[in-house]
Amino acid sequence: MSLPSWRDAGIGSMARAALWLVQEVGEDNIFTKAELREAFPDVAQIDRRMRDLRDHDWKISTSREDPTLRQQEQRFVAQGAEVWIPGKSKAPKHKASLTATQRAKVLDEDGYLCRTCGIAAGESYEEGIEQAVLNVARRKVIQPNGDTAYQLVTECKRCGAGSSGRQADLGRVLEQVAALSPMEQRVLAGWIAADRRSLSPLDKVWGQYRTLPEPSRKAVADALDGAND
Ligand SMILES: [Zn+2]
Repeated sequence: MSLPSWRDAGIGSMARAALWLVQEVGEDNIFTKAELREAFPDVAQIDRRMRDLRDHDWKISTSREDPTLRQQEQRFVAQGAEVWIPGKSKAPKHKASLTATQRAKVLDEDGYLCRTCGIAAGESYEEGIEQAVLNVARRKVIQPNGDTAYQLVTECKRCGAGSSGRQADLGRVLEQVAALSPMEQRVLAGWIAADRRSLSPLDKVWGQYRTLPEPSRKAVADALDGAND
């Protein structure tokens, strides 16, 4: 079956955005917001429709998930549901609302802090104007076996803005942890126990080393050289 054209104004704008990705951008390729808006001058919130695709398993990376991208760039990573087919563009079921008990439990487990930026409820952001409001969000988490789970996490309204497509990859985190040296794993376990990053002996000695005058820095470098011979 051939796909409808992304230019067909008779289909929904989210479906048109999806078709534009497939027909004009192509998987693994980069596009910019300016290109998107140029393609859809008649759709007021085309950026938002593009973000909605993430709820239908479309993978679109921003510079936040993919550090090789510049801020205005996004990458079309992988196609999701065929949202141009009637019935396939319904919002996924996991959007059901939380009970007050579920919400309270998650906030308690997360220490009443935004897990993304660390701000507490009612605390002011750095510029001192806005106060943080905490929400409980559903995060898509890829399990080590490749399954998808939805787990609840506390985040502030600001961090949550536009994060509906954010996902975590537990398998990858576990792989990275397993690849650390035993010493690094001990340091990480300490941070996890304290739920904060404290300075390791390595950080401390690095901080002291950096402030040394050059002859002393050289003495440290030479000592290390000697130790590793
Ligand atoms: Zn936050």
